Amino acid sequence: MKRITKLWPGGKTKAFTLSYDDGVEQDRRLVEIFNKYKLKATFNLNSGIQHEGSFWVDKGHTIKRMNREGLEALYEGHEVAVHSLTHPVLPELPRELMLKEILEDKQNLERQFGYLVTGMAYPYGAYNAATIEVLKASGLDYARTVNSHLRFNLPDNPYEWHPTCHHNEPELMNLTEAFLAGDSHSLFYVWGHSYEFDVQDNWELIEAFSQRISNREEVWYATNIEIVRYLKAHNNLKYSTDCTLVYNPSALSLWISVDGQAVEVPPGKTLQLD
Ligand SMILES: [Zn+2]
Repeated sequence: MKRITKLWPGGKTKAFTLSYDDGVEQDRRLVEIFNKYKLKATFNLNSGIQHEGSFWVDKGHTIKRMNREGLEALYEGHEVAVHSLTHPVLPELPRELMLKEILEDKQNLERQFGYLVTGMAYPYGAYNAATIEVLKASGLDYARTVNSHLRFNLPDNPYEWHPTCHHNEPELMNLTEAFLAGDSHSLFYVWGHSYEFDVQDNWELIEAFSQRISNREEVWYATNIEIVRYLKAHNNLKYSTDCTLVYNPSALSLWISVDGQAVEVPPGKTLQLD
């Protein structure tokens, strides 16, 4: 029997993704760093309060959300995703309001950015079974929690997508080295808020981290939704009982490892594996 395992696009073994919340002014500097190192991120926005009048103070720093104008250009090449309309604690709301918070944010973002928005990060990381039901009914494909697991595994349930760690995790650079040294099919997922770099005065941390993680042949740099769509398509590959034939019903090119060899399964095609 052949040994068949998953690979990322292009036959890559590892994937790396980022997720930043709240659409604040500091995102401008953060996007510049990510673009410099060709990293891909997902930015989770609250379209109902996306203006500079929405601000708060954290340890003497005034944290301001950005105005909506020009965000299409700022976030180009990255993904924008739902973070609810006004950043409430979703499980505390009646179902009807929860639905409005999610659907209206999704619709506002789709109209502004001109593409389907089907990702989300939970405000305050708060969710329950009812929240997940509302997300599914709203057509969302995944939602990120704030529960770090310090591992490189794929999400079991995309509606409870636990990241590897926050950027302030003390083990961040050790995790990075472990990820780069590993050779299994893996995913490294880092999240945070860009204003934290001002509040904690540690922009050099994200600069050093971005430099270290970037520019690796074996790593796929992707937004959250690119990873979810790829995995969904991968889970729909059909194999013959003896695993000598594989059919890819999706519109994406999918990659598998067959006895250690990278094999591309083109969209809509059946491939003989021998
Ligand atoms: Zn938030």
